[in-house]
Amino acid sequence: MSLIVQKFGGTSVRDTERLFNVARIIADTYDQGHDVVVVVSAQGDTTDDLIEKAHEITDRPDEREMDALLATGEQISAALLTMALKKLGYRAISLTGWQAGFLTDANHGKARVRRINKERIENELDKKNIVVVTGFQGLNRYDDITTLGRGGSDTSAVALAAVLKAKRCQIFTDVPGVYTADPRLVKNAIKLDEITYDEMLELASLGAQVLHNRSVEMAKKYNVKLEVLSSLERVPGTVVKEVCKMEKMLIKGVAKDDNVARISLVGLPDRPGVAFKVFSVMASHNINVDIILQSVGREDTKDITFTVARKDCAEAVQALEEIAPSLGIKKITADENITKVSIVGAGMESNPGVAARMFEALGEANINIHMISTSEIKISVLIDKELGEKAVLAIHRAFFDEV
Ligand code: ASP
Ligand code: MG
Repeated sequence: MSLIVQKFGGTSVRDTERLFNVARIIADTYDQGHDVVVVVSAQGDTTDDLIEKAHEITDRPDEREMDALLATGEQISAALLTMALKKLGYRAISLTGWQAGFLTDANHGKARVRRINKERIENELDKKNIVVVTGFQGLNRYDDITTLGRGGSDTSAVALAAVLKAKRCQIFTDVPGVYTADPRLVKNAIKLDEITYDEMLELASLGAQVLHNRSVEMAKKYNVKLEVLSSLERVPGTVVKEVCKMEKMLIKGVAKDDNVARISLVGLPDRPGVAFKVFSVMASHNINVDIILQSVGREDTKDITFTVARKDCAEAVQALEEIAPSLGIKKITADENITKVSIVGAGMESNPGVAARMFEALGEANINIHMISTSEIKISVLIDKELGEKAVLAIHRAFFDEV
């Protein structure tokens, strides 16, 4: 008998009708002879509402109490879904993160799963129960409730699938899978049948909001076969796995990330150790740097331009202003009016001309590129923010219109 883990996101369980819809999906899987472990998110906007309530009380809620509060959202959906399953005549039991054995590190609000004691879940499965587990939460070594960060229920599901050696981990959401671009923007975006872990990781970190980044990392590490699919339409979704079949798709998707800011340092002394000083200051402030560009030195000076997440921009500039006099930086400028557009695909590793095709599409659309960065399976360009959507459409057309 094989075990399947099924995770349902907030929109999939948002009200009674949706809860019964989900209960029927689970019941069908159980009726096919599988053991089923279910992971649920909080209903609809519950987590946002709880955060808002906390902020009505204080600007800086205590992080331990915040986790105690946020963990309740998933408890509501787990209990309600279990009632729905029972109403349909199935054996089911809900378990909180700690009842299900989730042990995490001590980092409130962004805890990592350390271990899962699976005895309780296995006992319940032996009793032929469908086990409904609250996503997004566990207990740290002080026996305090922790949460895994926004979107963390995906990670709970993958972690369970890994420890329980599930045949498959299905992530049900309100879209039928992973698309070649945001379908709200690109009307003829194509649903992918499959995508590799690495491609999915790139897309997830570029802001494609289908899967929690860490869940994909974990799925790759433990070789969990993931499937993203819709709880509203019973159609096959997108399978995420190690390698995909040889196929004609050069790239798997085009993504846009507005959460970037560009910082330029002008007139730095052109000598060894300067880049080290700049970026060690960023590291000491825990600021992630993405694309870096250094100009060719001239008359003993050079410029360095790089990007950071928009939320870190002000702090980065302030930190750099502090070291500017001692390092000899003449000018610091910051620009938040930019966006990053990227293409992702393992196919570009073995096919020359992918970058040229992307740049041609941008050139024809009259879009100027400010910075470029590449990895084995990704090419990103930085452009003016107001041209972002136009760029995504032009690039998508160049790669997918003849597929
Ligand atoms: N309820 C949490 C959130 O909204 C966790 C999740 O949905 O995955 O972020
Ligand atoms: Mg989610």
